[in-house]
Amino acid sequence: MDWKKIKKIDAHIHILPPERLCLWKESPEDAWAHADIDEYLQIMDTYHVECALLMPANDGRLYYEDADRTNQWLGEIQTQYPGKFYAFADILKEGAYFYEDTPYVLEHAVRECGLKGLKIHPSNLNLNADSLEMVPMLRKAAELHVPVAVHSYPCRVGFHDDCAPDRINKMIQIFPDVTFITAHMGGMKWQDAINGCGYVDISAVLPELVELYGIEQTNRILRRFGADRLIFATDYPDVRFTKPENIYKTYCDILNQMDFTETEAEKIAYGNIAKIMGIVRC
Ligand SMILES: [Zn+2]
Repeated sequence: MDWKKIKKIDAHIHILPPERLCLWKESPEDAWAHADIDEYLQIMDTYHVECALLMPANDGRLYYEDADRTNQWLGEIQTQYPGKFYAFADILKEGAYFYEDTPYVLEHAVRECGLKGLKIHPSNLNLNADSLEMVPMLRKAAELHVPVAVHSYPCRVGFHDDCAPDRINKMIQIFPDVTFITAHMGGMKWQDAINGCGYVDISAVLPELVELYGIEQTNRILRRFGADRLIFATDYPDVRFTKPENIYKTYCDILNQMDFTETEAEKIAYGNIAKIMGIVRC
């Protein structure tokens, strides 16, 4: 099996709005300078990435300072490239009104802009993933039948535990009618993500697992989650242990060394996320 050739959906990538991208382009050595749609379209072609899910970051410094504006822009990309990009909705935390505002922001993003999911980045929001403030927004996601991707890569001592997989696990239990994707497999807390029983994307974390544990142990960790829960994703262009232009090569090289059967690889590369998103294979 050659992961370069098999048809893939990348379930977690970043493309920046043009006004933001041009600022990053001033320092081309920075990964975010590659969050460029034209550059990414070429990579999609080379590596048989049929479509990609665009994730905002709940961060007004990366995307627009107004979540509605980011969502509108993401909707425009979806319309411009039908079937190629699907976008998740952005939310921001402004003052004390998070729990009051976000259900409306999400509803507008889905109904008016046509977005297909919700992205939560607890660390950027400075909110715990299991905060009660999340509840009205998650109820709205259930009502709208959209999946919720939650950033989970706890790092930096003391204050980045807000996105810990254990917190996300609680919400998975409390909201059985919401489809959660724990992004980055819970990072270095991947063992806790196993217990969540939900979907996990392998973005950002995969090269780090190999760096730390080697190929064989990484294979065992992925196996512990199982092919029904794993979702192919890279977090392009925000990468560790490689450069943005090499990210797909790195991922394919690693995945080629795993012992997944063809059916299992198809689920991870395409089937699982296609089922969540209602994407019909052509
Ligand atoms: Zn990301």
